[in-house]
Parts: sequence; C-alpha cells; structure tokens
Amino acid sequence: MESSENKTCVFSPGRPITIISNRAPYQLRKHFGQLHHEKNIGGLVSVLDEIMCQSGGTWIAWGEKGDIPEQVGIPLDRPRYSLRLIHLTDLEVNQYYHGFSNRVLWPLSHYFLDRCHFGSEYWNGYREVNEKFAKAFREGSQDQDLIWIHDFHLTLLPSLLRRDRPNLSIGFFWHIPFPASPVFRVLPWREEILRGLLGSDLIGFQLPLHAENFFQSVEDVVKVPVNRDSSSINYDGRIIRVGVFPVGIDFDKWNDLASSPPLAERARELSKEVGVENIILGVDRLDYTKGILERLYAYERLLEKYPEFHSRVCMIQIAVPSRTRVEEYRTLRREIDETIGRITGRFSKRKWIPLRYLYRAFAIEDLVAYYLAADLALITPLRDGMNLVAKEYVASRMQEDGSLILSEFTGAAATLTDAILVNPYDIEGLADAIHFALCMPKDEKHRRMKQLRCAVKDKDIYWWCASFLKSLAGEKEEN
Ligand code: UDP
Repeated sequence: MESSENKTCVFSPGRPITIISNRAPYQLRKHFGQLHHEKNIGGLVSVLDEIMCQSGGTWIAWGEKGDIPEQVGIPLDRPRYSLRLIHLTDLEVNQYYHGFSNRVLWPLSHYFLDRCHFGSEYWNGYREVNEKFAKAFREGSQDQDLIWIHDFHLTLLPSLLRRDRPNLSIGFFWHIPFPASPVFRVLPWREEILRGLLGSDLIGFQLPLHAENFFQSVEDVVKVPVNRDSSSINYDGRIIRVGVFPVGIDFDKWNDLASSPPLAERARELSKEVGVENIILGVDRLDYTKGILERLYAYERLLEKYPEFHSRVCMIQIAVPSRTRVEEYRTLRREIDETIGRITGRFSKRKWIPLRYLYRAFAIEDLVAYYLAADLALITPLRDGMNLVAKEYVASRMQEDGSLILSEFTGAAATLTDAILVNPYDIEGLADAIHFALCMPKDEKHRRMKQLRCAVKDKDIYWWCASFLKSLAGEKEEN
C-alpha cells in the first residue's frame, strides 16, 4: 500500500459548474444578526465543495426556512462560489421530499413495492418543486456552466432546463439503485420521470446493472432506440450518454485519521471497555433498506447455534436517526428496539452484554475509533446504491486486519470482492458467515483486507468526481 503523502488533486474542468442537489453543502444560521455557516457532514459534499471553490459557479439546493438570504457567497469570509437556497413551504416539503422522494422513488428503487405510496398529491408537489428549482436556475446560472444534477429528487430538472436553453451541458447522477424495468414500470409516472432524465447529456449510475435497468426501462416505456455498444440513447434529436461511475470515499482522509495516535488510543479504550475477543460492528442510517432487523436475527441465530462464542463477542450497532417523520421509519425503530431487548434479555450474563445499541449520529473521528476497534464489520443492506460505510471501514484498517461481511446487494460489493459476500435475506447463511469470519485465520484476513484497501484507494471520491466531470465536459480519461 502506498503512503498517503501523494494526495490526490481536485479536478477542475476549467469552467464554472452549477451543482443542483436536494441537500445544501452548508447549513446557514444567524447568530446575533451575524450569518454563520456549518458544512454538512459527508465526504461527497466536502469534495464537491472543494471543486466548487476551485471552479466557481453556483450551487442550488433546498435551504431551510428562516431569516437567511436566498443567495450567499461561499465560504462566507472569502466567497469562491454562490450558494442559492430554495425555500420550500411545509406542504412542498411534505409532498416533494417526505412524499414522492421518500415514499415513492426511494422504496421503488430499492425494490420495496409494498412500501410505495403512489399519491397523486405527492407527484404534483414533486413536479412543482422541480419547476421551482428550474426557475432558480434560470435566474442565476450561465449558459456556459457545466450543470451537474444530483439524485432522484430532481429527475424532471434536466428536461426543464433543456426546454429553456437547448445548448446546456447537463449531467445527472443517480446515486441509488435503478430498479429492473418490471419494477420501475409499476410507477404511474414512469414516462414523465424517464423523459425528465433524458433532458441530460450524460446520466451516471453506480453499477453497470443500474445502467442496463435504465436502458431496458427506456426501451420499454419511452420506446426509443438505445445503443448498448456505445452506451447511448438517441432521443429527441440528441445523443444521451449513459456511464458507470461508482462513488468512492476520500481514502487518504480515513487512512490518516485511523493512523492518528489519539484515535488509536480511543479505539483501544473502547475495546477494553467492551471487554470481548471480537467486536462486530454495524453502522447505518435507520432505514428499512439497511437490513438491520435481519442482521440482528442472524446475530441471535449465531448465539443460539454457536454457544462457544458467548462472552467472546459483542455486536455494536450504530443507527443514525433518519426520516423520523415518516411512519414506516418509526415502526421500524420500534421493531429494532424490541428485537434488541429480546436478544439482550435472552443472552446477557453477569459480565457480558452481547449487544450494544447506539441510536445517534457520530462525528467521523468517533466513527474511526469504532472502525478501528471492530474486528468485523457487518454491512448487510437488503439493497444499497453503494454503501460508503463499507469503504470507510476498509480505509480505516491501516494495519490490514479485520474482516468485512458485505451484502451482495450493495453497489460496493461489485468492487469489494474480497469481502465475505452474503445474501442478507438468508438469516442462517448470515449467521454462518459471521462464524466463518470469526474463525478465519489471521493471514487470510490480512490477504483479503490488503486487496480490499487497494480497491477502495484505486477508485476514490476524487476519481469519481473527475471521471464524471471529464466525461460531461467531453474530455478523455487518462487512466
Ligand atoms: N455517518 C456519519 N455518522 C454516523 C454514521 C454514519 O457521519 O454516526 C456517515 C458515514 O461516515 C457515511 C454516511 O454516513 O459516509 C453513510 O453513507 P452510506 O453510503 O453508507 O449510506 P446512506 O446513509 O448514504 O444510505
């Protein structure tokens, strides 16, 4: 493994960029009349922010209401680009975000058809908010900008922008899975969504499978020719390119944090406090796509089937509160609480707690301490576009030890082939996979982790940004 001294440079396309996303890169607050900003956590936001600071341009996103201006220069003290915030009414937030995004497109794309609520009021709100984003764009951005639209909240935007200004260069990245055509076609507004996306010049996906599902849906619904050899679609007199760009992480940042003596010390304290031979770690937003319940059942099965591991293992599950206003998420939280209560009630002994549950969000330094303390990461979503936690765990294991159990239904599984790949629905198989990982010889763990680290380092977040932007700008990739 190379040292992290040779830092990757941020790619700048040499012309201004307009990023349009649901979430803003900063939260703005007024304190005693003075405007302050705080960067939202997440590696992706940080790297896009770095790129924007180099290229200049505009970032358009939904901004919380309050006494905040609609447009500010970022960073506030020495502005490099413009942040334009779209203020939404409570009704718009309910219909566009909690409704159509979180209760229609999210469950549909993750194959949870029974959790979809196809309300036409959600659709109307979604359309109106997409129009609102388009209006903000018209007022603030330049024709020569490269436009980069992010994710399933804004699928109608590419054609709305193209309608006004046909010569724009528009890229769209779909971060979550794109479902198979028979699933996608269940959506009553399938054609509008596809035609919305086809306003782009370049549409990016995490996996070849998602790109293929998109091609098939376009063939089935829009009935225009797709060319799989050149990965393009001929639509409305234009050629739309479809590409695969798996999102990575800032490998060097995680590796460097994990190498810092204070965090190594925190990890040692944590291990001592838990007091077992093997810590098994799960880290997720509390979301039904993450397979937390199934994972808990598998852990319970492990304890039933392999009692020799009693007092020798502890599972730590971090669950970050998410979408707490949506009923499905509140129900899931109750089910997880009950399951954890049952497992700890069943197996705890005087000095051994088999399961620790932390229902809150941690700063990345804390996460690194958990990643370092964990002998095994158990990352078993039922479906996930990528899963960055898996990559962060790997990047933090700078001693090249530890094991990763990874769901085959994550985007990450396509490149992290040296993980122990599992079907997260198969509880018995998952329990056996945990047993297999716990019994794995040290040199086998080392061999696998070394390969995993190369895969994560090779295609990091900087590679992702640069390859998408180069492709959008029509430049050739060098590597
Ligand atoms: N994360 C965090 N604090 C926590 C737990 C997670 O900052 O307590 C971050 C984590 O570092 C990762 C992201 O949340 O970058 C989760 O990304 P992932 O792709 O795994 O799942 P998503 O939540 O986007 O579906």
